[in-house]
Amino acid sequence: MNMSEQLEVKYGLPREVKFCKRCVMSNQRPVSEIEFKHNINTKKRTLAFDEAGICDACRANEQKERIDWEKREQELVTLLDQHRSKDGSYDCLVPGSGGKDSAFQAHILKTKYGMHPLTVTWPPILYTDYGYQNWKNWIDIGGFDNISFRRNGRVMKLLTRLAIENLLHPFQTFMLGQKNLGPKMAAKFGIPLVFYGENEAEYGNPIADNSTSLRDNSYYTFQHLDDLYLGGVSIGELREKHNVGIGDLMAFLPAPADELMKANIQVHYLGYYLRWTPQEVYYYATEHTGFKARPFRTQGTYSKYNSIDDKIDDLHYYTTYIKFGLGRATYDASQEIRNNHITREEGQALVKKFDGEFPDRYFNEIMEYIELDPQRFHDLCDKFRSPHLWANDNGTWKLRHNVNNDGFNDNR
Ligand SMILES: [Zn+2]
Repeated sequence: MNMSEQLEVKYGLPREVKFCKRCVMSNQRPVSEIEFKHNINTKKRTLAFDEAGICDACRANEQKERIDWEKREQELVTLLDQHRSKDGSYDCLVPGSGGKDSAFQAHILKTKYGMHPLTVTWPPILYTDYGYQNWKNWIDIGGFDNISFRRNGRVMKLLTRLAIENLLHPFQTFMLGQKNLGPKMAAKFGIPLVFYGENEAEYGNPIADNSTSLRDNSYYTFQHLDDLYLGGVSIGELREKHNVGIGDLMAFLPAPADELMKANIQVHYLGYYLRWTPQEVYYYATEHTGFKARPFRTQGTYSKYNSIDDKIDDLHYYTTYIKFGLGRATYDASQEIRNNHITREEGQALVKKFDGEFPDRYFNEIMEYIELDPQRFHDLCDKFRSPHLWANDNGTWKLRHNVNNDGFNDNR
């Protein structure tokens, strides 16, 4: 009898753990989470693999090789020509933190394509010094108008703690605001185009992602408030039990569909039109907007320039390691393998060395901020480990399967 068939599987993840033959990602990776519609019991859609054992993210990346990028750029120029402002008003909006991607987006739209972007920022939960400096440089050196939206701090703190307690998801409040703020502000200011960078969430459908019509994409819109959850708690319960008014929650929610529809906003991914290589985007941002990597390695991985704005970011990837067996080195190495910067073997070694490293640099500060006992966080982690992924070997947690094939239940 196969023992693994008896083990509980949490979050509706695939029972059998498979690793991509090209990168180091597994089939446990959730994709396209529409998080404000989810509580912990919602089954997650996960990264698909084809018959050859290659993941959709790798296949999507291979397709970039076959894309006629000149034609794609021409599509972009046609789109921009229809909307470029002649009177100094804003004609596009770039949401971002001033990290390498948003810095590249805003700068190239302005300088190469003659657009007039408004940048909007949903600030990190807890800024790192480097994140704050990069945001400032983006605006001051890159040269953009910016609206930085400071939300209700009491509610931000409450929702962040609830998201950890109920979903083990420290980053949910940040991700929701980041996704929702852009289209809402575009509607307020009557700005016709919103540009995100790469469409990472939609690996399942790499072709049809050039433009997101608000008509058919509920990611940016909502109809029924009662169906929504924040921090794994329904809106109704938040109002009753936590003494939070609907007005306090609006900043975290998408705009009503009819409001966006009336404003006729289009959401586009620049990564559909322009070839997107993270390393080149990094060099571009360094040169043009004063972007700086951190001089030290990010805990849980080997890189210094990916998503370094928020102190909670490192803890977020620690929780993906707990819930899905996938730490930050797995995410970073997979992307670099796809872009041929490292080999799969190098990726495997990096995962072995860094995945799951506990991010203690900012940990106590974060716990203090959300008023959670550090020991309670560790207890929550153990509660959120799915038995089909984790074995407790005499008091030490071990992954049953890993990309190096030397996990607790791998055939060693
Ligand atoms: Zn892959």
